[in-house]
Amino acid sequence: MTTAVIPAPESGTEDLSVWPASTARHVHGGLTVGGVELAEVAERFGTPVYVLDEGEVRERCRTYRDAFPEAEVLYAAKAFLSRAMVRWVQEEGLGLDVCSAGELELAVAAGFPPERIVLHGNAKSPYDLESAMRLGVGRIVIDSPSEIARIAAAIGPDGRQKVMVRVVPGISAGGHDKIRTGTDGQKFGLSVTDGSAQHAVARILAQPRLELTGLHCHIGSQITEVKPYLTALRRMVGLMARIRDAHGRVLPELDMGGGHGIAYRPGDAALDVTALARRLRSELAVSCSAAGMPVPRLAVEPGRAVVGPAGVALYRILAVKHTGDTLFVAVDGGMSDNPRPALYGARYAPRLIGRAPAAAPRTATVVGRHCEAGDVLAAGVELPGDVRPGDVIAVPVSGAYQLSMASGYNMVGRPPVVAVHEGGARLLVRRETLEDLRRRDIGA
Ligand SMILES: *Cc1c(COP(=O)(O)O)cnc(C)c1O
Repeated sequence: MTTAVIPAPESGTEDLSVWPASTARHVHGGLTVGGVELAEVAERFGTPVYVLDEGEVRERCRTYRDAFPEAEVLYAAKAFLSRAMVRWVQEEGLGLDVCSAGELELAVAAGFPPERIVLHGNAKSPYDLESAMRLGVGRIVIDSPSEIARIAAAIGPDGRQKVMVRVVPGISAGGHDKIRTGTDGQKFGLSVTDGSAQHAVARILAQPRLELTGLHCHIGSQITEVKPYLTALRRMVGLMARIRDAHGRVLPELDMGGGHGIAYRPGDAALDVTALARRLRSELAVSCSAAGMPVPRLAVEPGRAVVGPAGVALYRILAVKHTGDTLFVAVDGGMSDNPRPALYGARYAPRLIGRAPAAAPRTATVVGRHCEAGDVLAAGVELPGDVRPGDVIAVPVSGAYQLSMASGYNMVGRPPVVAVHEGGARLLVRRETLEDLRRRDIGA
């Protein structure tokens, strides 16, 4: 092993393209995000810890608002939600897309206007629907035939509920089988191919308490090309035209869902949001004009693309082990705070922070602390050859589908969330303590 001291890369030679725009190199190999040194966050709040750059979240909301000025932009809360996140999204002029009473109640309790919230989900519980009615959610996306009568029955005698229909347009797109939702043979939505979408529309139109405002689709996640959206849009407009022909009803809304892909590592492809907006708009105009229909109001539901790149996960190294040819670097978190590598084979580019490396980079596998051989956070990544217990590593692009999917596995407790903004750091969500875990366990 070499012990030569490697000079830190010159400023500008390191590729920080997947990091928040506010990221800057600091002395001794450090990095600052939102004006706060990451090593200091790790010191002050402990590890593992999730850092969220408020400015980056807001800037990404603004990018969507600017790209889609005439459309409704709904942030998909399942990517990550907290009261602060609700406030930022609201202040930046976005709506909200939720999939449970939990997300809905949190948002409304944090002051989000319920009429600007859409509730979707393939299996809504009685409590989800009760909560939606009680809070006055804007629209409910119907995902199965049995929901139609259930929702209609839950509405009071004088009430009316706006609904949409989740349609499967028959598009295969997305980064992994488990996140492709645009084709038949997966659990979401009602198929156009077998006519179940059309059948649901007819049944909804026959329910006086339901107001069908439009169609909804969500073809997958981590999609980096514009094309599948355009194909889906044409099919959705085609279905809207057939609904007009069959029922004499012109639906005013078309929700194209989310799934906009982001880069997790330098060089990864990402969806160009501005190009998506421009081409959706022109395709919508062309398709509607060909069908002799007025242009419906477009909605999009980005989740990952709003919050993913704004988050950085910090872990402390607990153990370093050479096994065969592999250098295993074990950290104090893992699959309980980030299940994405185990679920989808997601890849990340972690980096040492807090000190300058003193050895050449070598290939390492960053693993978690959990009792599963599949608890691998990042395989085959470059880390300084002298990484050792006590070092802190940072994983960029950790803002989406990590903490929101966190589990209680091994009872390590879920990490806190710290917002960084304009040189200040503040706790948004505190660490889950052993006391929290014990309190739920009330049996004898
Ligand atoms: C998950 C989901 C989204 C957001 O997906 P991203 O990949 O985070 O953009 C939007 N709409 C629906 C219906 C979803 O299920």
